[in-house]
Amino acid sequence: MSEPKIYQNLIDGQWVAPANGRTTENRNPADTRDLIGSFPDSDEHDVRAAVDAAQRAYAGWRLLPAPKRGEILFKAAQLLVERKEQFARDMTREMGKVLKETRGDIQEAIDMMFFMAGEGRRLHGQTTPSELPNKFQMSVRQPLGVCGLITPWNFPMAIPSWKILPALIIGNTVVIKPAPDTPLSTYNFVQCLVDAGLPAGVVNIVAGGAGVGEPLIQHPDVKVISFTGSTRTGARVTELAGAGMKRLSLEMGGKNPMIVLADADLDLVVEGALWGAFGTSGQRCTATSRLIAHRAVAGELAERLAERAEQLVVGNGLDEKNDMGPQINQMQLDKIIDYVQVGRNEGARLVCGGSRLSAGDLGHGYFHQPTIFIDVRRGMRIAQEEIFGPVLSIIPIESLDEAIEVANDVPYGLSSAIYTRDVNAAFRAMRDLYTGIVYVNAPTIGAEIHLPFGGTKGTGNGHREGGTQVLDVFSEWKSLYIDYSGGLQRAQIDNAE
Ligand code: NAP
Repeated sequence: MSEPKIYQNLIDGQWVAPANGRTTENRNPADTRDLIGSFPDSDEHDVRAAVDAAQRAYAGWRLLPAPKRGEILFKAAQLLVERKEQFARDMTREMGKVLKETRGDIQEAIDMMFFMAGEGRRLHGQTTPSELPNKFQMSVRQPLGVCGLITPWNFPMAIPSWKILPALIIGNTVVIKPAPDTPLSTYNFVQCLVDAGLPAGVVNIVAGGAGVGEPLIQHPDVKVISFTGSTRTGARVTELAGAGMKRLSLEMGGKNPMIVLADADLDLVVEGALWGAFGTSGQRCTATSRLIAHRAVAGELAERLAERAEQLVVGNGLDEKNDMGPQINQMQLDKIIDYVQVGRNEGARLVCGGSRLSAGDLGHGYFHQPTIFIDVRRGMRIAQEEIFGPVLSIIPIESLDEAIEVANDVPYGLSSAIYTRDVNAAFRAMRDLYTGIVYVNAPTIGAEIHLPFGGTKGTGNGHREGGTQVLDVFSEWKSLYIDYSGGLQRAQIDNAE
């Protein structure tokens, strides 16, 4: 383990201590004796300084040609490739998920870097014919100014990358507030941009908790807020951003279903459900938390899944032999323990797991067993509420229609999946599942960065990250009309019969 370090805010290209001098500790959730470093516990003074710096930097950054902005992103991507292994270890140490997953998190940020670097040479608008002669027209994307970015702890580099990079390529500048549990990965990511030559003030980091988020949203010079986190926090963010009439993109919770029809390949289902439910210790917004299985196969599936889940090796993610790491913090662990009790009280039957793991070194971390309930009914709290932990609820159903109805009967709409060999059933599910993402014969996790990512209902507010669609969050359309007729031509009037 490396020595704990003191990290500071990044404001106007300088690493500076928070104005109030306060710090918080970043500790390893697999072993809380391991102190990674101390990070600023900033407040509104630092937010103001960072927004001022971003506002100043905007004047130059927005005028730098987009392909040149792309070249900086491209260089940063190369640095990220070189530093991937070290950053993966840093991320496992602060977030807990196993190394193969933190490598994946960083790979996602690399993919996003190359994708957005290329976008610097596209940023397509439209050209259309005019209804009048000797007139040309087109639309172009314009930046908005300073963007405030607020991110969660579960994808500590991928999620910041989904926000920072599209904001930058369009010509905006940003202030990011990383999640207090996992700030280091944001620092590592931004360091690559700095080392690649990003001008001072274009990206600013203000680390901290409650003292940072709301002042950032409320600052009058912040034009866009992009938030990823819980639906509950998103509601508060919406109130504040609404009061300031800000552009707001929200990515929030999920309660993602995997439908299994009687004709499904059960070997595939078992592999998919294990990965979907217990990957990232269940702490993915797209985690499979409901297995909606035809009654003919539900019992067999429960048995096979329980047998495999019990074999998963839970422990420190830095040890490559471990399959599943800890929960992020005591609060999350307590929440899972509470939900297991709720499930029992509601009459669901536990087929495996259900307890905290605390033997030996595990007692120094926030470990919980992979847990599966069967005989879950659609209205139960464990079938409705986001648990955000390694808990899978199996809900038996009788038909595809019932499966789709149950799948849609939750307040969220992020991701869903169906396992079947029947192409007609698959197409009906693709049409009728009301989620932003649908998988066929694959679990509810596994999005790629070049398609839109986001969800319906309580998961989002209609915006998407990923794809080229994310550019709409960070740009304003401007329509340009150029009349080269030499005379006044009145649209809708001079060309009317
Ligand atoms: P969270 O508690 O909502 O926090 C998210 C971020 O918001 C943190 O940086 C948090 O920092 C900040 N925050 C909290 N209260 C705030 C306020 N009033 N104003 C401004 N910022 C505020 O969520 P989390 O526990 O970190 O993350 C888990 C949640 O994120 C789950 O619900 C998960 O489904 C969701 N998620 C969604 C996606 C998606 O793309 N749909 C992806 C990943 C995660 P402080 O608490 O320190 O202020």
